[in-house]
Amino acid sequence: MTREVHHHIGGEIVQGASGRFADIYNPSKGEVQGRVALATRDEVTRAVDVAAAAQPAWAATSPQKRARILGRFVELVRENLDELAALLSSEHGKVIADSMGDIERGLDVVEFAMAAPHLLKGEYSDTVGRGIDTYSMRQPLGVVAGITPFNFPAMIPLWKCGPALAAGNAFILKPSERDPGVPMRLAELWIEAGLPAGIFQVVNGDKESVDALLEDPRVKAYGFVGSTPIAQSIYTRAAELGKRAQCFGGAKNHMVIMPDADLDQVADALVGAAYGSAGERCMAISVAVPVGDETADALVQKMKERAEKLTVGASEDPKADYGPLVAQSALDRVVDYIGQGEAAGAELVVDGRGFTLEGHEKGYFIGPTLFDKVTKDMSVYTDEIFGPVLCIVRAKDYEEALALVSDHEYGNGTSIMTRNGDAARDFATRVDTGMVGINVPIPVPIGFYTFGGWKASGFGDLNQHGPDAFRFYTKTKTVTSRWAAGAKDGSAFVMPRGD
Ligand code: NAD
Repeated sequence: MTREVHHHIGGEIVQGASGRFADIYNPSKGEVQGRVALATRDEVTRAVDVAAAAQPAWAATSPQKRARILGRFVELVRENLDELAALLSSEHGKVIADSMGDIERGLDVVEFAMAAPHLLKGEYSDTVGRGIDTYSMRQPLGVVAGITPFNFPAMIPLWKCGPALAAGNAFILKPSERDPGVPMRLAELWIEAGLPAGIFQVVNGDKESVDALLEDPRVKAYGFVGSTPIAQSIYTRAAELGKRAQCFGGAKNHMVIMPDADLDQVADALVGAAYGSAGERCMAISVAVPVGDETADALVQKMKERAEKLTVGASEDPKADYGPLVAQSALDRVVDYIGQGEAAGAELVVDGRGFTLEGHEKGYFIGPTLFDKVTKDMSVYTDEIFGPVLCIVRAKDYEEALALVSDHEYGNGTSIMTRNGDAARDFATRVDTGMVGINVPIPVPIGFYTFGGWKASGFGDLNQHGPDAFRFYTKTKTVTSRWAAGAKDGSAFVMPRGD
């Protein structure tokens, strides 16, 4: 019997009623392992009803008590880490150790959100006028939603729900239909941790459920992560409806390699950053920009040696460096791009096409691919491929390398590898991207800083996690207060001037 995944509404599993399902694959085997119910508009409305009814009591619970539930949840997730990582890998295809990282980097933000009693403090000014004090409060928005991608099915839902719940909101998650297993388990663990029913719910679905969430006036904010066209359309729709949205999109992250860098260290870092998780990371490095032909020639050689030694394997194989792509459609897309790069005249140094794994012939595997002499006009450079394909674009000098990064449509993350502090500082200051690594290949900020790309990688003005998340999931109320003793002077007819 195939496994069926439904919804988690009102503290329990609720059978989907639409009769519509999406297949859940096991990418290592290339087989359907189950199916997930796709919610109707009415089912989404039911979840919002439950959330709206439960949220006021949660908002009235002290932030410290809310934080204790977050703490218990973190413990429970860690106690269940092995099971969660195995489930995640079986649906996504990333290797188990990488799934553990996916979960842990999500918990990092839930742990940060446990500082809610401090982070929700308002401001206070006494005597802004005679006998008048002003203070501000951060209040929850009410019911909020998260719409998340397939590539981090634990981390990104946790980045969204940790701060949202800590701030007193009810949260409805619409996870990716490709790997809904872990989000459903997180819902069960929230209940086990003591979260009241209706405060964290999972509605599985596709565009229909996202549209229903967008159009319900009781849902006040959307934390979206996924591809750029969908990010932009959700941001636009939310703005039309007068709602808040932070929508993070695709990426094409460049690593600039200066001639003074230690090229063995660079190649070791780059091979993991480019090919880890089969390149299905929004912070993967997909473009390397060596400065000068001498650096480029040496780097290509070192990358070729390393790429050819990588072990591609089933997600449960502890020796595998990376596993399969998430779906046949993803594999077809990556293969197609490699063909486009070849046809456009890029030099194919390592070709990952045609890779098969013995015993897993139907799995969605592809070997590491390395292109040299890629130019700015090629689709392998302009587009996000989201696979284990690294493009080398040669720059004649530092300024040309910097301009390449800054001029690209996407601006998620970038890194510079150098021993020169002056170049590193100049790069961090001038480059037009949201996150920068200096001798750090994948600069995903820790949970108490914020994460967010620029340009086509992010729509909205507040980043994910860190203090911005609390700003996003709360609204500020400002109170100006005068007690009777300050009102002795009788009526006033002009605007007070603060004297
Ligand atoms: P996707 O855009 O296909 O899906 C993301 C979410 O949107 C899913 O929940 C999906 O069900 C929903 N969705 C899909 N089509 C929709 C539509 N027409 N209307 C409404 N909702 C829709 O993205 P994906 O393939 O799951 O994830 C990969 C993408 O996410 C890549 O582009 C990657 O770079 C990006 N990503 C970005 C970040 C970041 O922080 N910038 C992080 C992780 C992933």
